[in-house]
Amino acid sequence: MDRQKSICAFTNCNIIDGKFEGDLIEEGVILVENLDGVGRIKALGSRDEVSIPEHCKTVDLKGKYVLPGLINAHVHLFGDGNPFAPGDVKRTPDENMEYMKSSLGKYLVKETMKKNAMASLQAGVTTFRSVGDPFYYDIEVRDEMKDSSEVGPTMLCAGPMMCITGGHGYKLVSEASDSPWEGRKQVRLRVYNGTDLIKIASTGGVTDSRKIGEAGRVQMTYDEIAAICDEAHRAGLLVASHCQSTRGLKEALRAGVDTIEHGASMDDEIVRLFKHNPRSLRGYSALVPTFAVAVYVSEISTEYTKLDDVQLTNGRIIRDEMTEGFKTAVKEGIKVGLGTDAGMPFVTHYGTWRELYLQVKYGEISNAQAIGFATKSNAEILGIDREVGTLEAGKFADFIVLEGNPLENLNYFEKPSIVVKQGNIIDNTRDYIIPDVEKFVKDI
Ligand SMILES: [Zn+2]
Repeated sequence: MDRQKSICAFTNCNIIDGKFEGDLIEEGVILVENLDGVGRIKALGSRDEVSIPEHCKTVDLKGKYVLPGLINAHVHLFGDGNPFAPGDVKRTPDENMEYMKSSLGKYLVKETMKKNAMASLQAGVTTFRSVGDPFYYDIEVRDEMKDSSEVGPTMLCAGPMMCITGGHGYKLVSEASDSPWEGRKQVRLRVYNGTDLIKIASTGGVTDSRKIGEAGRVQMTYDEIAAICDEAHRAGLLVASHCQSTRGLKEALRAGVDTIEHGASMDDEIVRLFKHNPRSLRGYSALVPTFAVAVYVSEISTEYTKLDDVQLTNGRIIRDEMTEGFKTAVKEGIKVGLGTDAGMPFVTHYGTWRELYLQVKYGEISNAQAIGFATKSNAEILGIDREVGTLEAGKFADFIVLEGNPLENLNYFEKPSIVVKQGNIIDNTRDYIIPDVEKFVKDI
């Protein structure tokens, strides 16, 4: 069969290549070579450096700003972030599991997941990682979208989270195991089902906490975490751990987890373990903070978040601990990424860009650093930096085009002019906006 080959030149743009080694490229050109629907960057540089082949399609970007597509390292696809969705039925956890397993429930959950995945992409998130969704539905959605004619985002999927009996996410998105060997069996099941990584809850969380301080309570034992990590690493998979206390971080890192999700304040041993972690897959571990979820539950009235006083107090503890840990990580040169916990109340999939703003506001870093965490650094943490994360010849043509310079103002991310996924211009009609959520989060 003949292969479909074409070249497209995106011209007249300011290019932020995401390597942060030099200044941005003015009057830039990006040449994209598309082979059977998949576009890679063939060349990029200033107008004088890149020669545009005759008769190739050109897109004049009129002085706008181009940068790598955003990567969100922490999402849950089953929720869209809207706590006011009509028709929400109150179910017990068991009833909810039964509903999601039913054919109607499964169909509706997967439709929501696809919608959220597309909202992400249309808003400029060209790659994301789902870290806890029910019944491997995220794996099914990933594979169905890959086979579909519609261009979707790149999805790395964990399937259901692993927890202890009664632990974080139990009977929602987590499946329980209670010994090292049960943990290994759960990992083997995930490898068999085609997950891209393993997600565990080694400590408790805010939304299911019943006592003050419980959100970061250590749940999995060292032996359980170490067995899970060993089994996952044998299959070449990274382990991401929900972790919200200093003690939890220390135990999870000692046991070999590759990413700490959310985070907490750190001591010297934790800093050392992040940078050099002999039990991790790659010799180091990384931090994926999620300010959006922690800040929104702490700052939006409990009238709307529906949290009780204990959960609110825990939420604020977690926010402050996360901020502290983030600042230490940046100062100490620990590998840092970016996630949001999209799917949780008020955290939308299209609102990933707000996390950059929150990192700058709470973590006291620059716009450039936040952009770097969401692109280059996230790609490295997820192990996909040979394909995405920066704009370089040979990598996928995953980029976004903004009206103005995001190094000066992150608000330009709110409405990308154009989103390009593997060389394909994505339809960007913005019908994914949820006004009920916007009015709460826009001023935080
Ligand atoms: Zn999460």
